[in-house]
Amino acid sequence: MILTARSLKRLDGVHPDLVRVVDHAAGITTQPFQVIEGRRSLARQRQLIKSGASKTLNSRHLSGHAVDLMAMIGSRVSWEVPLYYRIADAMKAAADALNVPIEWGGDWPGFFDGPHFQLPWGAYPRTDNPALTDMPAAVPDRAEARASSRLVIGDQGEAVRTLQDRLVRRGYALVPDGDFGPKTRAAVQAFQASAGITADGIVGPITGRLLAARGPRR
Ligand SMILES: [Zn+2]
Repeated sequence: MILTARSLKRLDGVHPDLVRVVDHAAGITTQPFQVIEGRRSLARQRQLIKSGASKTLNSRHLSGHAVDLMAMIGSRVSWEVPLYYRIADAMKAAADALNVPIEWGGDWPGFFDGPHFQLPWGAYPRTDNPALTDMPAAVPDRAEARASSRLVIGDQGEAVRTLQDRLVRRGYALVPDGDFGPKTRAAVQAFQASAGITADGIVGPITGRLLAARGPRR
């Protein structure tokens, strides 16, 4: 299949390694796809948070390390889940062939984000993107610092490491690597369940406070 001019335009500012994976996948996929979105502006990310569509200012879209792909049936977009597994198969095979690590949003437990593919935080730090010359600051102001004080799957950094240390101290088996992945999310959910609060795997103020408190170990 061929990526349309619009898809190619949407890959502007996306890390060249991820562009290569998308391009290679287009050549081998059994399910045609196009690009919905690549690099996202901070203004748009703020809008998505306001509308509830996104919970984090640490989105990999901001630094051009993520793309969203949509399944196409002819000229029509389809959101049928099985089609996204086929696109993911092609993306993973392409990533293997090119030796580029990728993560698929469809592999995140409890939150299926089938269109989303990203380069891992560990291998590709935020500022590592040769396609960009105007990298935005991580957290530009205090309001956004508050918004990003919630920790969710996909987040990375010192705050995640502190969270993981606290979970480990409470007996959850984790490696505090600063990456909020599926295992961290599962541990957060288990902790929330044991604390009798909603087990959504999102570390907001209540979960954060309970975790920081001294208490019996589990
Ligand atoms: Zn995405």
